[in-house]
Amino acid sequence: MRRAGSPVADIAAASSTSAARVLAATRSAGPFYRRGPTLPNGVVGVAGIARMCQVPTPTVLRWRRNGRLPAPDWTTAAHRPVWLTSTIELWLTTGGLATCPTCGAHVLSLPRHIGVMHRPC
Ligand SMILES: [Zn+2]
Repeated sequence: MRRAGSPVADIAAASSTSAARVLAATRSAGPFYRRGPTLPNGVVGVAGIARMCQVPTPTVLRWRRNGRLPAPDWTTAAHRPVWLTSTIELWLTTGGLATCPTCGAHVLSLPRHIGVMHRPC
């Protein structure tokens, strides 16, 4: 949960223990990076798009660099680009991405994705 960015206090509450115990028990599994300010429901940043597409965040950053992503709906005062989830949902159906039948990830190249992610051992 810490790796996924959940606040220590939330993990402690969910586990009926203290934040100190969560910190002590998970310290060796870190480092953990703090998330930026939480976006309101219906708004996503790059990490949220990655979650929606079930791809790693660097993939979304590359799509953004390469002009694959739709333009952000707006940019926060901290210069963070954000999108409405509805913008991304529409883009998922019109953006030319393929959906992996195995894991559900939305990818540019299904053969490449399958070759990297689902290669037989
Ligand atoms: Zn897949």
